Order: sequence, then structure tokens, then C-alpha cells
Amino acid sequence: MRMTNQRRIILQELRKVFSHPTAPEVYELVKHKLPNISLGTVYRNLEVLCDLGLIQKIDVAGTQKRFDGTVVDHYHVRCLSCSRIDDVPLEILHSLDTAARELSDYEVIKHRLEFLGLCPECKAKTDKSSARKC
Ligand SMILES: [Zn+2]
Ligand SMILES: [Zn+2]
Repeated sequence: MRMTNQRRIILQELRKVFSHPTAPEVYELVKHKLPNISLGTVYRNLEVLCDLGLIQKIDVAGTQKRFDGTVVDHYHVRCLSCSRIDDVPLEILHSLDTAARELSDYEVIKHRLEFLGLCPECKAKTDKSSARKC
């Protein structure tokens, strides 16, 4: 498939950020460089880039799809309060695949693991509100 200019700019901008943006956020990132692009075109290009394996889609039920310019396997931590997603620089636990393979008879190739919690901002907020109660 041909790499259009639009697609290249979307890829470039996505690789610059570590915020795992949603499609509307990607649209905001590329708008200054592609003033004529529509949100629909951004969506379509993001799907194509996923299909080409150039970016990753983080699809969590009940939340907006987010996109990641880092395609090497890595773990994510998600905020239960505001849905922010960050990378966790933890080495991939290949021993989990081996263990699952032994227990399931499946040819386990990889695993998905997501950490859940409160991001620093949301944690600060809850700390403050619980302090007020005391
Ligand atoms: Zn948060
Ligand atoms: Zn990531």
C-alpha cells in the first residue's frame, strides 16, 4: 500500500508523543500540518497504519480506542479515573507464556497484561479530598 503524505505525517506525530492519544487527539496533533484533513480521514488512516503494523491500537472495552506509535511489545498502566495510559518499562515476562502453554495445551504466542490504578494527577486529587474529610 502506498504511504500517502497524510499517513506519513500522522505516523510521525504519533511517534513523537507518549500519551497514547485517541483519534480526536491525533486529529488535534496533525491539524496544524494538515489543515484540510477531517477527523474521518484521521480515523481511516489510523486503522490502515494499524493494519500495516506501524502503530498499535489499545482497545479497552468501554473506553475510547487509543493509538500507540511504539509497536515493540510493552506493558501499559491505565488510570481507572481518567483513562490515561502510560508505558510501564517492565521487561516482558516470557515465563508467563511458557506457564500458560503448559497449563492450556495452546501454542501460546504472547500475552496481554494491563496494570490498573490511579495516575499521579488523580492520586493527588483523591489524596487532597480525603485529607479534607479528616
Ligand atoms: Zn487519572
Ligand atoms: Zn505504549
